[in-house]
Amino acid sequence: MSVFDAKAAANPGVRQLQPYQAGKPMDELQRELGLAKVIKLASNENPLGLSGKVRTALQAEVEELIRYPDANGFYLKSKLAALHQVQPQQITLGNGSNDVLEILARTFVSAADEVIYSQHAFVVYPLVTQAIGAKGVSVAARNYGHDLDAMAAAVSEKTKMIFVANPNNPTGTFLTTEALQSFLDKVPSRVLVVLDEAYSEYVPENERAPSVAWLHDYPNLVVSRTFSKAYGLAGLRAGYAVSSVEIADLMNRIRQPFNVNSLSLKAAEVILDDHEYLQKAVRVNQQGMQQLTEFCQQNGYNYIPSYGNFLTIEVGPDAGEIYQKLLHQGVIVRPVGGYGLPNHLRVSIGLPEENQAFIDAMNRIASAKN
Ligand code: PMP
Repeated sequence: MSVFDAKAAANPGVRQLQPYQAGKPMDELQRELGLAKVIKLASNENPLGLSGKVRTALQAEVEELIRYPDANGFYLKSKLAALHQVQPQQITLGNGSNDVLEILARTFVSAADEVIYSQHAFVVYPLVTQAIGAKGVSVAARNYGHDLDAMAAAVSEKTKMIFVANPNNPTGTFLTTEALQSFLDKVPSRVLVVLDEAYSEYVPENERAPSVAWLHDYPNLVVSRTFSKAYGLAGLRAGYAVSSVEIADLMNRIRQPFNVNSLSLKAAEVILDDHEYLQKAVRVNQQGMQQLTEFCQQNGYNYIPSYGNFLTIEVGPDAGEIYQKLLHQGVIVRPVGGYGLPNHLRVSIGLPEENQAFIDAMNRIASAKN
């Protein structure tokens, strides 16, 4: 029998990759432990459920599923262009913003290049970098957040791209407008800066950076956004980048022609007009954040102050054990040891009763220990 050594044949960068660790699916836990009820606070999803307006629009759109989607996403791009006051040609749609990040890396980075990102930053940055065989440069974090001075200082002649997550996942840390702008001033214009704003909608409006407006002054800047979080469409996969027309044109050359499916396009168009849904999502998140931070304060847990829809809590060296015990109580959270945070657990903000279920489970675990 002939033998094919797949591992030896794979691209060297791919061989060294660890697969992305997604949050544990709810039905998997139900199956494994025979639990009647499971609460998932593991993937920074929107706890509100689907917008009613999106549901209605999707039901009609189902009839169109025999057709290919609009490869250029005309209507969605027009809406996004109006929202951001840019030209539709500046927008690149993605199968989630994950896809956008990967397209960016594949468009601009080659094996000889370096890509800079922060310690504890979103795992997809090293993943897309290594897949290309480029060198990832992880810069030590400061107070769990990006150390922008150190990141600017890490730029070498080989640096092609810098990923900046604001807010960052899994730490929830946030960079001020001033800090970001002075960073952009320092980075040479031949280096692309990808500003990943997946959680932007949760940031108070008066604190958000005018990131898209900056594209005029910094043609090496790309801003990415998603419909997965505050807009509540994670399962459909829709995200986008806003950049110069030139960058978008290049990204468009390697993007899969139908990377955003017709249901996603429709849902994203509709949710952009559902202002009530977005406002409610932000309000529920603020309240849930307060519920969880108060629990931490009252019970002596340190946490990383978060601008996202999740809170990363320091539970101690037995974080892995606590994660397992929470699973047995039907609560799925996210271990973040893979992010260099072995003593923390990341908890996505849920509905008040879901947050309370997490709090009750934590209290039961703590009292069983004492
Ligand atoms: N960026 C950050 C910082 C994230 O946390 C996530 C989701 N975990 C993404 C991008 C990608 O999300 P999506 O592909 O669903 O848009």
